[in-house]
Amino acid sequence: MDENRKRDWNRHLVLVPCPLQGHLNPMLSLASVFHSKGFGVTLVLVQSSSHPAATSWASDDFFYESLGGSDGSIPSAPDVDLMRFLNEVNLKCKSSFRDCLMGLRMGRLRDRKLCVVYDAIMYFSAEVSDELEIPRVVLRTSIVANFLGLSMLNQKAYLPAQEDGAVKAIQELIPSMRARDMPVFDKSCPEATERVLAQIHESTSTASAIVWNTLQTLEQALLHRLQSSLSPPIFPIGPLHKYRTRDPRRRHHSSLFAAETGARREEDRIKCVSFLDSHPPGSVVYVSTGSLVKLSRSELAEMARGLADCGQRFLWAVGLSSADDGGIAQLIPSGEELLCAAADCHPNAPSMRGLVVAWAPQEEVLAHGSVGCFWTHNGWNSTLESMTEGVPMLCWPWVGDQKIIAGFVTRVWRVGLELECDGNGGLERGRISRSIERLMAGEEGREIKKRALEMKETVELALSDGGCSSQSLSKLVDFIQLL
Ligand code: UDP
Repeated sequence: MDENRKRDWNRHLVLVPCPLQGHLNPMLSLASVFHSKGFGVTLVLVQSSSHPAATSWASDDFFYESLGGSDGSIPSAPDVDLMRFLNEVNLKCKSSFRDCLMGLRMGRLRDRKLCVVYDAIMYFSAEVSDELEIPRVVLRTSIVANFLGLSMLNQKAYLPAQEDGAVKAIQELIPSMRARDMPVFDKSCPEATERVLAQIHESTSTASAIVWNTLQTLEQALLHRLQSSLSPPIFPIGPLHKYRTRDPRRRHHSSLFAAETGARREEDRIKCVSFLDSHPPGSVVYVSTGSLVKLSRSELAEMARGLADCGQRFLWAVGLSSADDGGIAQLIPSGEELLCAAADCHPNAPSMRGLVVAWAPQEEVLAHGSVGCFWTHNGWNSTLESMTEGVPMLCWPWVGDQKIIAGFVTRVWRVGLELECDGNGGLERGRISRSIERLMAGEEGREIKKRALEMKETVELALSDGGCSSQSLSKLVDFIQLL
């Protein structure tokens, strides 16, 4: 038993993660924390075409349940538009979650006090818990500023529009925000977007408590403001991934991919680590745009040209969907021999300047001393992981919360800089290579690196005994016990 497991609580937590990689990872970390604190845990996994490898974590008082949709067909996220996916998951999972909870309550967990812990975007869990009178705690997996900003825009009926009035409204809250930092959503179905965002807001503001994957020290003023407008207590305990990496049995991410992809990921992992081992400290540009961004072939090609031109070493995780689309080497136009070679070359070849893989073990990569900067889409997990390791960011946000996160990274915390784009926001090889140079070699880059290292200390302090995240976690454990 983990040394932190002081008491065998009577409380059993039923955790409902969302089957998107950036949402699943923090919930699995939370499962690991709760289990180490002595709670029984059941993870309810939404059935989709792919399953997390985390089922191998099952052990003493740590269980799994699978949730099929009412017609057994829940889409796997990347194939459909995100808002449609969320709509479908929430509609299709509701009745099977009710059956699941009732089954647990009458069977295996009949003597235990239940509490549901759900990702805010799995709002069906809130409806079912309320029906069955089971207390519920919500997990928020993005920056507080995004939630506050969206709530404000919603109140003023600006959602999901990008109007002048909306920009002014958000500047009242966060003065440094500009029009281009505004959250971006798919415009094809504004009603669905509005409905989903309203439900997410409702399922957050009516929970018994809110667990936030952020740090008090990062977003103090906004957390304070939010707490004064919401009744559930907020527990900022992040960065969550650090709790999981402390537990050797659960150090590696769960993957949302099928078995053969898992084998390929392990192959990629070995390649990445030996590639990084063969290069000097701070010399490699790590590039990844997360699990959902889909790059066009021309964007991939322009990225490749920019990386080729900049002369720096690089490790590029192109993403499984891009990699599967005809093979990595073929993404690169003919003539870019350097990159084709990088994809095919053995990682130990000393002259190799770049390595292209489908999927990188990101936390391990960012913690590796050879990484000098991270070209990122600013998903919140990637951003937290980078700040935890003191790695400066080259920010290239896409949709949703990524723009506001990039705004904080570049203009509030100043631990990264914006990737220069052309007048239409498109990629251009010269601007890419100049941006990388500024961050890796210039005076500006050195200043950013200094602040990134200070940020790393801030995160370490928050997680240390008596630090703000540790204290918040202790209070959360006590709070849940009393529910
Ligand atoms: N990730 C990874 N390897 C990759 C790309 C991503 O391990 O090659 C992980 C990354 O560490 C992060 C998550 O996938 O924890 C992506 O979440 P994030 O919020 O950054 O972006 P999203 O995928 O949700 O857009």
